[in-house]
Amino acid sequence: MSEGRGLEKYDIVVVGGGECGLAAAKQGADLGARVALAEPGAMGGTCLNRGCIPKKALVRSAYIYYLMGEAVDFGVRSLVPALDWQMVIERKDRLVRQLEREKRRSLEARSIPVLRGRASFLSPHDLTVGEVLVQADNIVLAVGSRVASIPVPGAELAMTSDHALAMRELPESVLIVGGGVIAMEFAHIWNRAGVSVTVLEIGDRILAAMDDQVAEELTRLSSERGIEIITHGRLEQITREDGGLSARAQLPGGFREIGCSVVLLAAGRVPNIAGLGLEAAGVQVDRGRVVVDEYLQTNVSHIYCGGDAIGGHCLAPVAAYDGRLATRNALRGNVEVTDYSIVPYTVFSTPPVSSVGLTEFQARAAGGQVEVSVLPMATVECAVVEGETEGFIKIVADADSGRIRGGHIVGARSEELIHIIAVAMKGKLTCGELAEIIPVHPSFSEGVVETARRSPAAGLVAFEQ
Ligand SMILES: Cc1cc2nc3c(=O)[nH]c(=O)nc-3n(C[C@H](O)[C@H](O)[C@H](O)COP(=O)(O)OP(=O)(O)OC[C@H]3O[C@@H](n4cnc5c(N)ncnc54)[C@H](O)[C@@H]3O)c2cc1C
Repeated sequence: MSEGRGLEKYDIVVVGGGECGLAAAKQGADLGARVALAEPGAMGGTCLNRGCIPKKALVRSAYIYYLMGEAVDFGVRSLVPALDWQMVIERKDRLVRQLEREKRRSLEARSIPVLRGRASFLSPHDLTVGEVLVQADNIVLAVGSRVASIPVPGAELAMTSDHALAMRELPESVLIVGGGVIAMEFAHIWNRAGVSVTVLEIGDRILAAMDDQVAEELTRLSSERGIEIITHGRLEQITREDGGLSARAQLPGGFREIGCSVVLLAAGRVPNIAGLGLEAAGVQVDRGRVVVDEYLQTNVSHIYCGGDAIGGHCLAPVAAYDGRLATRNALRGNVEVTDYSIVPYTVFSTPPVSSVGLTEFQARAAGGQVEVSVLPMATVECAVVEGETEGFIKIVADADSGRIRGGHIVGARSEELIHIIAVAMKGKLTCGELAEIIPVHPSFSEGVVETARRSPAAGLVAFEQ
């Protein structure tokens, strides 16, 4: 750790210790560069401390609670389960601390100094980090994002996902503003935990970026389990009322007042660039995002940027990919361009929803003949045995070549199954080739192989029902 004052010189300084920054710094050290990393907070950034990992811990606890309620269906009698949210949060905090230690160790193992504090540019090559003056030949900006605020009266009464993950008591009822990935994940965590949940989405459907059929299925499943989803609804204001909150929403037919204990704002995130002094470095910004080219290079040739700070996918593995690529390009001179064509991702609802590649709509819009194969999860024997029959597996393929263009899965284990389709796409397999894989039986993976087999793009003559 750096405690010193005065000028420190490095080949590369990485600003931010999230997934992007950690990957960038480690890549630099692995390539033999003299690297330092600036971070004011805990290592691991949003993903580890306020995102993926704590969220997944809560998903797991809420799911185990739900499963225990179902246990008798499997011949397991147990006492009536009770959810102790305080213990859930304590477990989550323990896991985060444990994994954060690992992140720090991975830097120590490479002798990468951590400069404690917020970095701010003085000039294109000079930064202050706390008390330290730093000069760098190359800089990777990995400053991430924060929750976007909504400019309505009373917005300060609402909480963000940061607060929601730290709450030690479950609220009675929640209004979630936004219908994207994070919104739907919290909707399902809270719903499984017994909280009354309403989702307010400004557009015409939840999960706007995902396949239509997937969004429809999650809407149906969410409604079935009591989550109210209001679309075409614009939040107008939040006020305090009777020990709780009241949110006023503008709907097509007029206003609606929604009473709740808590409002969660989950309507997007914005890059964390305030106070970074980008003007002093001359780095170009567009609508709050750092502008980069396909090498992740900014308009200032020795400054690169990746992860949430450039917008785009806003996923942890993409941020890590960006970090590695930015450092390689900075140190070796723009040797690689970004390729985001195969990025699987999951909405950790219950059941989880996962996607990779093009949606059916995008594939059709791209031209050419498209074949779509959809297999209900209820036809997968393993899903029947495990009582996880909700959802479906969908493969979108090119009719002429048989090449897989996208995969979309609603259902248990979809966060793992989606990698089969991702690997098939990466290896440029056709539906027919994927269909020839002999899967484990009984397994959920059989469903993916069977979906490929049933696709007309597989070129197989017939299939048995
Ligand atoms: C609730 C939630 C759930 C999520 N779940 C998932 C999921 O399941 N899967 C998934 O793939 N993604 C998920 N994400 C998204 C994922 O967390 C982000 O895409 C990822 O963490 C971005 O990494 P990053 O390195 O770009 O930024 P961050 O992780 O935000 O890291 C940026 C770091 O930079 C530091 N920093 C900022 N400004 C400065 C400065 N001036 N000087 C020094 N340091 C600075 C910050 O302190 C921070 O530590 C989730 C996000 C949220 C909010």
